[in-house]
Amino acid sequence: MKALVYNGPCDVQVKDMPDAKIEKATDVLVRITTTNICGSDLHMYEGRTEMEAGRILGHENLGEVIEVGAAVERVKVGDMVCLPFNIGCGFCENCERGYTGFCLTANPGSAGAAYGFAGMGPYSGGQAELLRVPYADFNCLVLPEDAKEKENDYVMLSDILPTGYHATELAGVKPGDSVVIYGAGPVGLMATASAYLKGASQVFVVDTHKDRLALAEKLGAIAIDDTEQGGVQRVLDLTDGKGADCGCECVGYQCCDKHGKEVPNLTMNNLVQTVKATGGIGVVGVFLPQDPKGPDPLEKEGKLAFDFGNFWFKGQRIGTGQANVKAYNRHLAKLIHAGRVKPSTIISHELALEEAPHAYEKFDKRENGWTKVVLKP
Ligand code: NAD
Ligand code: ZN
Repeated sequence: MKALVYNGPCDVQVKDMPDAKIEKATDVLVRITTTNICGSDLHMYEGRTEMEAGRILGHENLGEVIEVGAAVERVKVGDMVCLPFNIGCGFCENCERGYTGFCLTANPGSAGAAYGFAGMGPYSGGQAELLRVPYADFNCLVLPEDAKEKENDYVMLSDILPTGYHATELAGVKPGDSVVIYGAGPVGLMATASAYLKGASQVFVVDTHKDRLALAEKLGAIAIDDTEQGGVQRVLDLTDGKGADCGCECVGYQCCDKHGKEVPNLTMNNLVQTVKATGGIGVVGVFLPQDPKGPDPLEKEGKLAFDFGNFWFKGQRIGTGQANVKAYNRHLAKLIHAGRVKPSTIISHELALEEAPHAYEKFDKRENGWTKVVLKP
């Protein structure tokens, strides 16, 4: 099968790889029809992780089931399924409580499992023609009859829509709340849509990329250009100096010396400043345990200079971590089905798998107009 393989930092290639196949009776085999490039792929792409060369990337996957293992009872050949990026077993104590992003079985001894991810188990990614899906009865979200027609919407259930929603859950967004979101990338944009689904009265989105801010505006947000780093003051001005009721971090590590530019992480401190006293903060941006390319010594160790004093003094609350996609995707699918949310509006490019290396390069540089790439193997 053709697949997108990681060779090393900023070097990926589409090549022939051995076909994915059923390995356990609880697996299914999926023919991938849509697979996305995600901001999380860039942590591997830019060499910030211990990704082994030769691994297939891709954790935002949708396709048709073409073979089922002997112990699979619910999922059938021909089903169109969207796969949560995190792999859960469904029966460990974390999965039972809905924390499928932290499954204790699929990647023992670590914090969760995912397809095509460094440090999250041996599972191959879906930027390929075929994907093996473990614990398939649990992990497959079987899609309704409009699956093919709305494929570019449903594929966002694999990650960015539930992740954006998770940010608003962690932040505790309630009807009428104002919300400040750092990052207008795909995740920040889905957090924007989610905040409005939850009844937010106002959403402020802070970024430096005009094309992405324009998309945030299209979703109804007040876009704040932080190019001159005046974003914090602007949010305070718009909230009578109090700050927003809740805030979401949708940026994570962004440093990249490859492009000759070092970007220190300001978002956590910006959130402390621009969320009101007692407000909630949801952090879904990825902060790696170690980041050899971090711009300062603390970040290299995966640590962050964080204004804990002000955070404590303001009595703020914080929630972090991988989105538990399974906890949300069935309900969010119903909203897509009903036309209440249309995540495909943020797609900038729909390309063949062969074009993935070029797309990685453009998306990694956040070139104007490269917001979200969907690949069609
Ligand atoms: P992205 O990198 O395309 O988007 C990040 C955006 O943040 C960019 O538009 C960038 O211009 C902006 N930005 C950079 N520095 C900023 C700053 N100081 N203030 C405001 N904006 C700033 O990627 P994405 O796909 O939207 O993902 C965002 C983050 O979410 C990544 O860290 C990704 O790994 C993470 N993520 C987490 C989960 C999860 O389950 N928790 C799932 C998916 C993605
Ligand atoms: Zn993703």
